[in-house]
Amino acid sequence: MADYSIAVAHLYGDLMNTYGDYGNIIALTYYAKQIGVDVDYQLVSLGDDFDADQYDFVLFGGGQDYEETIVAHDLQDKATEVKQYIENDGPLLAVCGGFQLLGHYMMMADGTKVDGIGVMDHYTTNMHDPKLTVRNNERLTGNIVIKNNETGEEYHGFENHQGRTFLGESERALGTIVSGNGNNGMDQTEGVIYRNVYGSYFHGPIFTRNGNLAKRVLTTALTRKYPSIDWQSKLNAIPTETF
Ligand code: GLN
Repeated sequence: MADYSIAVAHLYGDLMNTYGDYGNIIALTYYAKQIGVDVDYQLVSLGDDFDADQYDFVLFGGGQDYEETIVAHDLQDKATEVKQYIENDGPLLAVCGGFQLLGHYMMMADGTKVDGIGVMDHYTTNMHDPKLTVRNNERLTGNIVIKNNETGEEYHGFENHQGRTFLGESERALGTIVSGNGNNGMDQTEGVIYRNVYGSYFHGPIFTRNGNLAKRVLTTALTRKYPSIDWQSKLNAIPTETF
């Protein structure tokens, strides 16, 4: 056993795991292990309690509309604790459907409006929404590259979604589109950053293809739990994988 450990919750990992979003946890573990940190994994799914104080990192992956509606319903019971986790600066990665459900609502492909938990300020509308100024009846699918405006880092991934997400006042984008569609195919934004929450439409998974982001989030998680240690230097000393 290592001297240090982080507890990871995989929210609805049995239902929301498009294109192997679980790989984000494998990537995090890959880096953690090299600096002597154990990762304790816990699946938190339908009917389970989510205790905000118990976790150092949370992954909430993507899913099809059908699974997403089932999860949306159950998530209401966890909303208070999820909000507390986020407002306490807990690091969280939300991908695609998971990203959508942390916002106010999402519109399914068939037009059904599904309530999110509104712990973040974005909303997701439907590709057929007549209010969209750039409207096409297609899913936003393909390879995507974005640039993070604060760090200058470029992130690579693959997107496949019909939902069009629009960020709220308190949120900033994970990056600006270099190529691809992003949150809505209109405003050049991709993903979200709010406190220590990262949201994205990237599959691939994002942490395996963009080791710099994985290391950044791992640094945040470890510094929050063990503030007296210079985790950034430890992680800088090991190679960063990008694909
Ligand atoms: N069902 C959602 C959409 O198409 C989410 C898809 C996903 O998570 N890949 O917008």
